[in-house]
Amino acid sequence: MRKSWDLYFMDIAYMASTRATCRRRHVGAVLCKNKKLLGSSYNGAPMGVADCYEEGCMLVQNYEEENGQLVKKTRCIRTIHAEQNLLLFTDRENREGATVYVTDEPCWTCANLLANSGIGEIVYHRPYRKDHTKVQQLLEQKGIIFRGLEDYHPPQGTDDSQVID
Ligand SMILES: [Zn+2]
Ligand SMILES: [Zn+2]
Repeated sequence: MRKSWDLYFMDIAYMASTRATCRRRHVGAVLCKNKKLLGSSYNGAPMGVADCYEEGCMLVQNYEEENGQLVKKTRCIRTIHAEQNLLLFTDRENREGATVYVTDEPCWTCANLLANSGIGEIVYHRPYRKDHTKVQQLLEQKGIIFRGLEDYHPPQGTDDSQVID
């Protein structure tokens, strides 16, 4: 059976994620339009700057509400998220009406940027429940198609991030 375009582009997003520079989460993203690949990205520190593998993660802690309770969260802020790098490395003209395939459901900040980037569709694989409701509402308001791939299996050896929330 031939691979569908959804699986084809998500596989490429997972391949891109293997270049990520933070071991806490490996995220990859691709931009495509009319079945053409227009860009790819992963989460990483700015070029020429020490990354998490060289200097360790840059961790911050804060409290966030989860099911009505305040929960302490730790996250790494050294890397630029894959979606943000994708926007830095693609042209507005190419993004108009294009689709973003991303290995992980976008966080609130990335969804906000994507909402203003011209793209028309976001397809993700691994859910990110924390921001799901507000991200979904935002994208619905913007008329951006937002869907998760189910029954999808990443290429062997690419789904190795140690996901820590
Ligand atoms: Zn890190
Ligand atoms: Zn993000």
